[in-house]
Amino acid sequence: MLLSLYLQKRQFPLYPVKSPLPPNLKLQSKSGQIRPLTLPQDLYDPLIDYKSNIDSHTLPLKCSKPAAYVTTHSLYLSCNPNPLTPPPMAPIDPHSFTDSSHPLATHISLSLYFDFSSSTILASALLSLSSPHSGPISLDARSLSISAVLNPQTLSPLPFSLSSTTDPVKGQSLTVSLSNLSQFLIVFSTSPSSSALQWLSPPQTFGKTFPFVYTQCQAIHARSIFPCQDTPAARIRYSARLNVPRQLAAVMAARHVDRRPPASGEAVMACDDAIWCGEGRVVEEFVMEQSIPPYLFAFAVGEIGSREVGPRTRVYAEAAGEVLDAASREFAGTDEMIRVGERLFGAYEWERFDLLVLPPSFPYGGMENPRMVFLTPTVIKGDASGGQVVAHELAHSWTGNLITNKTNDHFWLNEGFTTYAERRIVEAVQGEDIAALNIGIGWRGLVEEMERFKDNMEFTKLKTNQEGVDPDDVYSQVPYEKGFQFLWRIERQIGRPAFDEFLKKYIATFKFQSIDTDMFLNFLKANVPGIENEIDLELWTEGTGIPSDAMEPVSNIYAKIVSLANEFKLGRMPREDEVADWRGQEWELYLENLPKSVEASQLSALDACYRLAESKDYEVKVAFLQLAISSGCRDHHSEVERTLKEVGRMKYLRPLYTALVQGSGKEEEKIFAKRIFLEARDCYHPIAQGVVESILSKHL
Ligand SMILES: [Zn+2]
Repeated sequence: MLLSLYLQKRQFPLYPVKSPLPPNLKLQSKSGQIRPLTLPQDLYDPLIDYKSNIDSHTLPLKCSKPAAYVTTHSLYLSCNPNPLTPPPMAPIDPHSFTDSSHPLATHISLSLYFDFSSSTILASALLSLSSPHSGPISLDARSLSISAVLNPQTLSPLPFSLSSTTDPVKGQSLTVSLSNLSQFLIVFSTSPSSSALQWLSPPQTFGKTFPFVYTQCQAIHARSIFPCQDTPAARIRYSARLNVPRQLAAVMAARHVDRRPPASGEAVMACDDAIWCGEGRVVEEFVMEQSIPPYLFAFAVGEIGSREVGPRTRVYAEAAGEVLDAASREFAGTDEMIRVGERLFGAYEWERFDLLVLPPSFPYGGMENPRMVFLTPTVIKGDASGGQVVAHELAHSWTGNLITNKTNDHFWLNEGFTTYAERRIVEAVQGEDIAALNIGIGWRGLVEEMERFKDNMEFTKLKTNQEGVDPDDVYSQVPYEKGFQFLWRIERQIGRPAFDEFLKKYIATFKFQSIDTDMFLNFLKANVPGIENEIDLELWTEGTGIPSDAMEPVSNIYAKIVSLANEFKLGRMPREDEVADWRGQEWELYLENLPKSVEASQLSALDACYRLAESKDYEVKVAFLQLAISSGCRDHHSEVERTLKEVGRMKYLRPLYTALVQGSGKEEEKIFAKRIFLEARDCYHPIAQGVVESILSKHL
């Protein structure tokens, strides 16, 4: 009689359910368990990927024995499971070829042979589905050479096709045809231009003796290391065997299992046994038992040493005593932060919280790879203030890694929550004043982004539409700071104790799931009844610009610094006694509150007093140099050049290159910028290369 109801997330909105469901609906999980379906709770069931409103006109009105069952994709409701209307094909993520009608891989087993002489990895990947599948399955790939796709049992080839055109954002789609198979093996190799990998030659390392390679997979670069459904909607577990030269060590954002000689047969087609078991090679084995979005896949291989800094934390870095010593001093307070995080947000679920300090070319401040955070060495400032970046990456252990944005359109769910959580940790460990300074620095950053996106206000929204857009190109402070402001606004509305309780419940409800903005809003409305009448939730999530109920922090230090910055505009330099106890953050805030363009002579006088251009704190140095460039002050060009050649952190590259090339009448600066990039390019990670190229091409 009455047939199926197909729920698909993309037909939002989600919940509350408008029409009452017929009674006695049963839910059958993938493991076969049958129990009554209860709404809305089951909309949060981790087995159900897509939660959706129920479309009233397709609802059976009289349904005697309806059944419901869940696939990795969808919740189906049906009186009679056959026939079900097959779900329409639809991409589930604007940045991926993953299709809603294909099953998701749940596990990947990798064999990786590192060939440093050619900057490539010879590899195989065994992908597992939760149940046998017949038909196509599409994966993402970028600059990979696929040599075969095989049935892992019989080693007979399976039909596959790699799209002949390369999408500038997504790369290529690799489509494999399966016939009642739940596993398939892909044999492939990476290219030297893999966008996730930076291969450093020995002279580019600290020790100068051995090469080094490391990953950065966020936002959509995992696909340049192995073919996968490279969307955060698809969480995977994995195991990996890394075959590396014996002098080197491998680390991963996963549990280390073993370091041992290679054994024949375990290359799993990645390369010949003779190569795999060659002289001077060693295998490092890892497993990741918790499901992660692919962008959290991470490894580094090089001459790596470590120091213990806490019961759950070791600091890893190039094996040089001075680097490890400085890092272990800087991060000595890490375990205290983990304990604060646990008190605020619930148990730390990832067992280890290790830190890897990378070479200066690392493109981000930190990357929240689970179990092992990757860090730029620029956070080691010698005064433990680098702990703030660690607090941010640690906070991701709950928001981002446990609860993940379903696509990059909802990136604020990762970064806004994490910025909020980071500041709560900082407040508990370093005090309210420091937290207020951070909020103030963030506020200035947010205001500046409004200027940057004034011609493209889409990217001042929290919930964005990134169809056809490269996430690296629109990376900004908006998801961080506007997201923070939104959550802070809710906290002010309902009070901190209630908000803390809400946060804990949010994390407990959605952990190990990937969610979108609507799911958050529905959860908020269900748990804070009437909130939509107090705060314009739609304006906050879908509106452009900064809502009028956002606010700057209130604190004495913050107000003092802003007022000193205002006085600078009138020609008054801060006195030595006024800045005597300033550290990096105070200076950073001061500089960011100065007008974009000031008198060059005034800047030189400021620098003569306080030596900001040579500050060891890159935040201060770069804020000053940016101001100097945009004020037309050329005294510091040599310092600008040194900085751009020394570090590859995009937080510094972006403003400095932009200040050099943006605007008219700056021919000399433009030539200068082009020359530096030409000379420094090889020292940048491919993601940073791409970002600088896009800045230059926009303005040159
Ligand atoms: Zn973050």
